[in-house]
Amino acid sequence: MDPIGLSDTAESSKLMQPALAKAFNQVLTQGDFINGAAVSTFAQALGKYLRVASVIPCGNGTDALQIALMALNLPFGSEVIVPAFNYVAAMEAVALLGLVPVLADVLPDTFNLDPTSVIAKISAKTRAIIVVHLFGQCADLAALLQISRLHQLYLIEDNAQSLGAQYKSQNGSTFYAGTVGHIGTTSFFPTKMLGALGDGGAIFTNDLKMATSMQQIARHGQQQKYQYEQIGVNSRLDTLQAAFLSVKLKFLNNNIAQRQLRAQEYGNLLHRLPLVKIPGRADYSTHVFNQYVVQVPEVHRDKLRQYLQQHQIPTAVYYPTPLHVQPAYRYLNYHSGNFPVAETVCQKVVALPMHTALTLDQVQYIAQHIITYFETHS
Ligand SMILES: *Cc1c(COP(=O)(O)O)cnc(C)c1O
Repeated sequence: MDPIGLSDTAESSKLMQPALAKAFNQVLTQGDFINGAAVSTFAQALGKYLRVASVIPCGNGTDALQIALMALNLPFGSEVIVPAFNYVAAMEAVALLGLVPVLADVLPDTFNLDPTSVIAKISAKTRAIIVVHLFGQCADLAALLQISRLHQLYLIEDNAQSLGAQYKSQNGSTFYAGTVGHIGTTSFFPTKMLGALGDGGAIFTNDLKMATSMQQIARHGQQQKYQYEQIGVNSRLDTLQAAFLSVKLKFLNNNIAQRQLRAQEYGNLLHRLPLVKIPGRADYSTHVFNQYVVQVPEVHRDKLRQYLQQHQIPTAVYYPTPLHVQPAYRYLNYHSGNFPVAETVCQKVVALPMHTALTLDQVQYIAQHIITYFETHS
């Protein structure tokens, strides 16, 4: 059996290698390395895929969040609600702009923002919610949209992990994750659903005024060259990366289907284990399984990981520590105990290998070792 990777960035590109090489040569010949033709071609193709009016490419997924927040023009000290169980990017962008990150707890089954916790955190200073669709599945957008309308809050979707996931609204229509709120953001980091061969990111919106503003912000706030309308940043998607991404976009649906097949197999093999909780599924969303994250009792988590490692099965923990106890954010005065679900899931989560190059035999090998671990350790 081939070595098992946690994620895969080389093997799955093999299939696309001729097309990627062709894209590279085309850009090399044209020499338009910055803001080249391939950038707008890719933005249009992604917009068409997602059925969203505007796609603004930028440097990475963290920049995308910062640019989205800048476009909201919120007064200093405005509060923005972000999940406590999350990657740091959203909280960081909020804090960098002189806004106040206000954390909310997540749901224990889906790991996504708990609307009840969000409601409890709304104050007179709240202006926005950043919802993060974690691991490949949408958060409860119906509830969050309702909250955002009721309290007149902006809703930003951080869709770095769930590009291609579809949200089913209550009236039955479906929308791609990242196109439901006022602004959506994503990352093209190589291990994400649509991964570049380097860094990249994008912002989505159906609001054309906001799109114009964000386009400006990403280019030093300029409308025309050397004329600055607002304070901006420099955040660009390289032409080369855009050309690669146009190729990879054609494989996104296949990537999703392959991951779903592997998730199905993991689920079939693991769901009967009383000590393993397979990823909870929401009826309002598809799941694209950017990560396959199970939960096991805290006392077993590290021992299980060690056991699997001994059998050449890599695992990861996303995320080991909730944001409210991170040293950098001590000034917000949170304490352990503030977000019980986030704290608990941090102790229980294990991400299993998940990518298109993973064979079903490998999935069975991994599941069998998890089964054996619990037979011999409980
Ligand atoms: C990866 C990721 C980001 C940041 O993306 P970069 O391109 O690495 O800046 C932001 N939010 C979430 C949830 C992510 O997973």
